Amino acid sequence: MPSEPDADATPTAPDADLEAAIAAVAELLRPARHVFVFTGAGVSTGSGIPDYRGENGVWRTRQPVYYDDFMRSEDSRVEYWDYKLEGWAAFRDAAPNATHDALVKLERAGRLEGLVTQNIDGLHAKAGTSRDRLVQIHGTNGEVECQSCGKREAPDPWFERFRTTRACPTCPECNGFLKPATISFGQSLRTPDLEHASRIAQRADLVLALGSTLSVHPAASFPLLAARRRVPYVIVNRGRTEQDADPMVSLRIDGDVTGIVPAAVDRALANTV
Ligand SMILES: [Zn+2]
Repeated sequence: MPSEPDADATPTAPDADLEAAIAAVAELLRPARHVFVFTGAGVSTGSGIPDYRGENGVWRTRQPVYYDDFMRSEDSRVEYWDYKLEGWAAFRDAAPNATHDALVKLERAGRLEGLVTQNIDGLHAKAGTSRDRLVQIHGTNGEVECQSCGKREAPDPWFERFRTTRACPTCPECNGFLKPATISFGQSLRTPDLEHASRIAQRADLVLALGSTLSVHPAASFPLLAARRRVPYVIVNRGRTEQDADPMVSLRIDGDVTGIVPAAVDRALANTV
């Protein structure tokens, strides 16, 4: 997968530009009633989530474990659980930030058609976004999932057990392999998630792509799917994205999501009934 283009990041906009950015996003948000929000890593950086594709990312020091290997080999399962254990405490302790909270406000105001996130930190769910409006398209670290029967459970006891026994957890129901419910390398995205994301894109009257370089597919194709229907398409991201030059983009803000989106949501909701 492509790396995040941190080296290309532009400086934060000065205050006048920041105010203009907030006003511009709010203006497009105000009349929208079926907002499709798409989020990436830039939404979670304010919550201290480790960036694993960046310079000090975990993939610099570890070989990724492919899904087929996980299913075939106990050694691979141990390697995988060990890698997940390394990041577990950070994920468990991370708290939602002002952007996550703003998107919950948007939903409670009846304006959110759906939220598709590339993030696996579970922070949108933790903030209170409804499960039936949320598509965690690359899965979540917030649950473990049985690879045989699909049963999902809270992750903490299983990490604790692995930490003390070094034995990979199996399903209490069917003895299948338990795995954090993220999409692994070589594992397909879930069909119900793809279908849900597609429905959201088809119903949206505004697309808001936040904190994503829009470079990982198929996830990044959903904002464009909506934009092709000629609904306004807003991108807020610090640094370039792969869709900056797309003629369907109505508004492109280069800046920090947390400095812009919560204020824009407040303003849009304050001025409407
Ligand atoms: Zn099972």
